[in-house]
Amino acid sequence: MTDSLESADFIRDIIDQDLKNGVNSGRLQTRFPPEPNGYLHIGHAKSICLNFGVAAEHAGGQCNLRFDDTNPEKEDVEYVDAIQEDVRWLGFDWEERKYFASDYFEPLYHYAEELILKGKAYVCDLSPSAMREYRGTLTEPGRDSPYRDRGVEENLDLFRRMRAGEFPDGARVLRARIDMASPNMNMRDPALYRIRRVEHHRTGHAWVIYPTYDYAHGISDALECVTHSLCTLEFEDHRPLYDWILDQLDLPCRPRQIEFSRLSLEYTVMSKRKLNALVQSGMVAGWDDPRMPTISGLRRRGYTPESIREFCRCIGISKSPNRVELALLENCLRSDLEARSPRTMAVLRPLKVVIESWPEGHEEFLTAPIHPQNEAMGKRTICFTRELFIEQEDFRETAPKQYKRLVTGGEVRLRNAYVIRCREVIQDPVTGEIVELRCEHDPATLNANPVGRKVAGVIHWVSATRSVVGEVRLYAPLFTMPEPDALKGEIVDHVNPDSMEIVSGCRFEPILAEESVALPYQFERLGYFHRDRDSCPGAPVFNRTVGLRDAWSKIEQKL
Ligand code: ATP
Ligand code: MG
Repeated sequence: MTDSLESADFIRDIIDQDLKNGVNSGRLQTRFPPEPNGYLHIGHAKSICLNFGVAAEHAGGQCNLRFDDTNPEKEDVEYVDAIQEDVRWLGFDWEERKYFASDYFEPLYHYAEELILKGKAYVCDLSPSAMREYRGTLTEPGRDSPYRDRGVEENLDLFRRMRAGEFPDGARVLRARIDMASPNMNMRDPALYRIRRVEHHRTGHAWVIYPTYDYAHGISDALECVTHSLCTLEFEDHRPLYDWILDQLDLPCRPRQIEFSRLSLEYTVMSKRKLNALVQSGMVAGWDDPRMPTISGLRRRGYTPESIREFCRCIGISKSPNRVELALLENCLRSDLEARSPRTMAVLRPLKVVIESWPEGHEEFLTAPIHPQNEAMGKRTICFTRELFIEQEDFRETAPKQYKRLVTGGEVRLRNAYVIRCREVIQDPVTGEIVELRCEHDPATLNANPVGRKVAGVIHWVSATRSVVGEVRLYAPLFTMPEPDALKGEIVDHVNPDSMEIVSGCRFEPILAEESVALPYQFERLGYFHRDRDSCPGAPVFNRTVGLRDAWSKIEQKL
């Protein structure tokens, strides 16, 4: 499908209309506003693709990267750095437009004084619990704070002394003066500034009062001349407050907030709080554990930026809540890798095969395509020797005829090489375990069956003497239930204990001992595998990025 055939989403429709009508002089300015309190996840990718994407679709359109760093307790420069790396890796560029809400602490403070001067804000001394009680409920209106009618001079004096650090944390709050009876709880005189003696990762100890998200966000948007402030649906009820704040002040631009639904994905959690709990508990190896739905985890697993962008395009933008199937993400990845990944062979659980018809010590270098549909990617050499390894599960002493692999007395084609026949099975005399297959090869079958000869099964293999040993990590979802967000209790108690299987003693084609290309490899018949940074020289470690669709396991489940 080409882009021009697709129908735009409702946000793109609104933007087109605004641009046509010359709103904000026909400018388009968006922003992606992460809070640096964790690593980005696939949900953020949806927002990044929307904000940077829509800006790129319009001549002169721009997207800012703005760190929403108004909550110093949980924020850190580690996250600031990781977020930038992830946005860049996804293929987006904010150029020189990187901002921090903390850059606006001074103007934000002055706008707060302006609100006080206009009688639109006041200092309230109610304790947090009294404030909650005065706030009312969804069915009952709130009551006015006894401090609501403080005079302008007194408010200004108290607010300045709040800034100067004269009062303890939590003793006083600056509140907007709106409407304690509003049916929208966000409009019941919400807090604008709180006293908190916390070090900020950028402003240090310069401030002991910090603005709330609702107060800072709209003004930050306006100061950056953002025209369309795109956010997720939980902010829909905050839009009247966003608009109210902008209405009271004389600002360089009037942004418009539009909400869309959050991405949620089956078998995983998306909130940074829960992801952080997984990291802190040690249940995962860090934010970039290949099982995590973080951008860094997906990258380490072997996901490509192209596949994530394609996934975001497929899910689209709407207001309806939806939980997207994991299969959609995996299919976007598979189709990208299918087209581009170099092919190679690896044996995860080796079973030794001795080709009795092959001379001792003889090596034959065969050629195989790096990609069967893309000749331009060239050829690789693989070495055929007397001793080989095949996958344990590719041999059975007896099996139903649907099992198109090797059985005692049967034939199978070794991929990119010869047809072999199994003559004898050697078992451990004590355990009965199969330790070796004695086979013979047919020299007339290199890469093709002679006329009239049918060998249906093809299995992968590696040379026993010309291969390297390494480790493979196989992954299953972090949670076994499709909606782990709905679980009660601690999220770490629900992690799938079988979400990672480590297979050591795997055998790879020698090329895999080297630093790999950026893309995952396709290990023929096994799936796509990406070299992990835990690899050592000569001892590679591969993450299974995603499997192939496996025909036999489906047949076997039905038998
Ligand atoms: P979380 O609950 O995961 O911590 P958040 O909304 O607090 O998410 P922010 O860093 O504030 O995270 O988000 C930055 C931007 O990304 C916001 O505009 C937010 O609406 C958007 N965003 C966050 N999560 C999702 C999601 N799951 N789907 C789409 N957009 C998202
Ligand atoms: Mg947030």
